[in-house]
Amino acid sequence: MEANFKTLPECLDYFSDEEVCRQYLEHQRWGGTPACPFCGVINPYRTNRGFKCRDKQCGKKFSVTVGTVYENSKISLRLWFAVIYLCTSSKKGISSHQVGRQLGVTQKTAWFLLHRVREMLRDKAPQMLKGIVQVDETYVGGLERNKHLNKRAAKGRGESGKANDTKTPVFGIAETGGKVVVKVSDWVTKKEAQEIIKRHVEDKSTMVTDGYSMYAFLSKKNQFKHVVVDHSHGQYVNGGFHTNSIENFWSLLKRGIIGIFHQVSPWHLQRYCDEFAARFNSRKISDADRFELSIKNSNGRLKYNDLIAQGKESKGDEPDNGILIE
Ligand SMILES: [Zn+2]
Repeated sequence: MEANFKTLPECLDYFSDEEVCRQYLEHQRWGGTPACPFCGVINPYRTNRGFKCRDKQCGKKFSVTVGTVYENSKISLRLWFAVIYLCTSSKKGISSHQVGRQLGVTQKTAWFLLHRVREMLRDKAPQMLKGIVQVDETYVGGLERNKHLNKRAAKGRGESGKANDTKTPVFGIAETGGKVVVKVSDWVTKKEAQEIIKRHVEDKSTMVTDGYSMYAFLSKKNQFKHVVVDHSHGQYVNGGFHTNSIENFWSLLKRGIIGIFHQVSPWHLQRYCDEFAARFNSRKISDADRFELSIKNSNGRLKYNDLIAQGKESKGDEPDNGILIE
């Protein structure tokens, strides 16, 4: 089975009913060899409603959605797939309000659906970046216009490394012309930068940054070659090196968050960053292929109570007003 649709109506035609969706998910998840999600034993018995584990001690019954983001959902797989298609094919993302209107569910239901799609899109085993690698940081969020003038954050980098609590710092690392890794952080300090670089960049890479003094540590070790592009003096290319890849990503992320989502709480910001990074990192393949790649990553549940674990903070996130249908 191979999905090859180019529009939402084609997607919905392709997934004509639940049985087609289930077969498709089975194929993408297990590649023809179903496995018990509880014990891992393969080739379970088929039952009327799904599977029964072949292992005598386990013997559990399960359906193809157990252990996936769709587990226990009252939303049909057909609708789920439509949401996944909309989310992965819209360059700047799609808001819960828009999904709610287009697919006839409440905004709150759409919000929870989309956060589970973000869980699918999260890179569970991020690969290391290497070669020419750009590092930069930015600040996201905060509604400046709602604040009294003297409480507005100074533009750019605050002395504390945190832009006066109104915006959330985000670090980004990008291979020139390649993939990005994006991390929401509490602080912009050398320590944070070092940790993120250690976790995501291979030694001997050429690191490209702007002139911010925090990144001077990259010049002091033999671990990396460090190239500085001094934006403050109007320099945007230095010997062919630049930070355009990460800056292009920032502009996409910010246009999406301001234009589509309007407001994102710091608590959920990492999930939105994961969504944008997943689309960015698969930008060279077709919408249908990106959809299929996402479905292959359906494993892993995200429960509503875990999603809103820090309760109040989620309220600033795409402000909602509806009824939840899980
Ligand atoms: Zn089992």
